[in-house]
Amino acid sequence: MTNLIDMIEVNNLTCEYAPGTPALSVHELNIRSGELTFVVGASGSGKSTLLEALGLMTETARSTPDYSFKLKPTEDSSAVELCDYWQWDATKRSAMRSQFFSFIFQQENMFKSVSAMENMLLTTLQSSEREEQEANERITEMAQTLLPGVVLTKPIMAYSGGQRQRFAFIRALAKPHRMLLADEPTGNLDPLKAQEAMGMTKAVVKEKNTAAVIVSHDIQLALKNADCIILIEKPLDAGGEPAAGQIEPSTVFRKKQDKWKSSNSELTEKQLRAVIEQSLQSLNTQ
Ligand code: ADP
Ligand code: MG
Repeated sequence: MTNLIDMIEVNNLTCEYAPGTPALSVHELNIRSGELTFVVGASGSGKSTLLEALGLMTETARSTPDYSFKLKPTEDSSAVELCDYWQWDATKRSAMRSQFFSFIFQQENMFKSVSAMENMLLTTLQSSEREEQEANERITEMAQTLLPGVVLTKPIMAYSGGQRQRFAFIRALAKPHRMLLADEPTGNLDPLKAQEAMGMTKAVVKEKNTAAVIVSHDIQLALKNADCIILIEKPLDAGGEPAAGQIEPSTVFRKKQDKWKSSNSELTEKQLRAVIEQSLQSLNTQ
């Protein structure tokens, strides 16, 4: 039995782009190994802000006395406190980020002058011929599943947006990592292809006991694949203006058998879908 651990533990995190204007507040949040976590919420609720703060990409986290941000690199290592991460030496910072995370961004960020295969190989950092061979085999096998019959040697811009998005999945999953962070990675894929990409992601998470955090607008995809769903709510403040996005234990749902449990509720899939849809609707009318 693999050991499932809290890879990231956040308490009382506030993210802001401008001093005094919080964009997101996280009361309590654990990202677990062996779990596929989906982040849902209306546009502007703070989904990308959360992903970028977790992935140590953007310095929005505001230090407060009771704020903590712990990251456990592996099952056997002790947790690293990341509150002062942005004060670290730049080399140590980028080593931590590149060893722990793998990313899929909304834009595929491919190198335009090289082939699909070279693009997928570039981030795997093979140090020996054997490693290169292994990475090659891993990528070819994934490509056969997600893009059967597609030749991988053409220049990247010769492929469609949907194909490039699947290459981005393969590139991120083939790179050694402990946590995958993906921001709307299936936006250009039809439902069947989105599900195939998610199936492959889930297989990697379960097999390697990694974690994946996926921002998505697709509630169906989330309900079908997630072990945990984070709903970011964006309430109105006293003046009737939209306040910062909020993550509370009551809006983090984990699947237990066929129910979705939060700190204060236990919902069927249908009920959770209604809760999410209602939250998205109330935001969209603000
Ligand atoms: P989502 O990904 O859910 O659509 P974002 O995380 O992009 O939402 O945005 C959350 C809030 O933070 C919004 O109010 C947005 O306007 C603000 N925001 C996002 N990025 C920036 C930025 N670079 N500078 C200032 N404000 C930003
Ligand atoms: Mg976003």
